[in-house]
Amino acid sequence: MLAHLNDVLLPAQKGHYAVGLFNTTDTDMLQAAIQAAEQLRSPIIIGTAEVLLPYGDLPLIAPSVIAAAQRASVPVVVHYDHGLTFERCVQALRLGFTSVMFDGSAASPQENVEQTREIVRIAHALGATVEGEIGHVGEAAGGDAAQDAYTTPQQAVDFIRATGVDALAVAIGTAHGVYKHKPKLDIGRLQAIRAAVNTPLVLHGGSGLSDDDFRRTIQEGIAKVNIFTDLCLAGAEAMRQGIQAGLSYLEIRNKKVEAICRAVSEKIALFGSAGKA
Ligand SMILES: [Zn+2]
Repeated sequence: MLAHLNDVLLPAQKGHYAVGLFNTTDTDMLQAAIQAAEQLRSPIIIGTAEVLLPYGDLPLIAPSVIAAAQRASVPVVVHYDHGLTFERCVQALRLGFTSVMFDGSAASPQENVEQTREIVRIAHALGATVEGEIGHVGEAAGGDAAQDAYTTPQQAVDFIRATGVDALAVAIGTAHGVYKHKPKLDIGRLQAIRAAVNTPLVLHGGSGLSDDDFRRTIQEGIAKVNIFTDLCLAGAEAMRQGIQAGLSYLEIRNKKVEAICRAVSEKIALFGSAGKA
């Protein structure tokens, strides 16, 4: 069933587990992720991100994701990840997304607050939720995360108070994409932020972290983890093997869906959300 972010994140925060956001660009990834959640009886967040729109047109993918969520036997939040512009966030809400992330982290802190507050006002009026970001989770390809881009507890408190966001992405040392160096997570910072606010906290750039990193960050208060790169790696490897084995297009497609489903299942088990639906 179609769910809201708070329906799944508040119990997760209380129960010390996390719910995965799995980004998708097509119905193959979508089917794989929902199948994994249903098999493990886990709530799930399915999304697509603004940077992925060249690979999966929003008005085309949105009705599929919403239909899949509605008919699923577990709670499914439909989340628009890293909305970079006001217009796209509003478009996602109009298309029926139950949750949007507005990423104003590249703007000045003041602009980020003002724009996020405006999105929150619109989303809440429509019964949807908003995730914001303070500090900046950068790209793994761009090198290690800069310390000055890390979220501070005071920034988190001020940002939540000023904007009314329902969930907050924090920068504690992770980055998006494939890591070149093993990321160094600032767990002390996460503990301090967790102690300062009640809002569910979100970890971006989860692909490539060790199982221990996940257990630790979830234990210390992360309630939502974003995964995309690991699904692409699993799907691409399955396709490579299928081509090498001389399989047909449809056989390769099925192998890809199975591989992505396995990758999602592993994360659900690791995050502790299995059996929580
Ligand atoms: Zn992200």
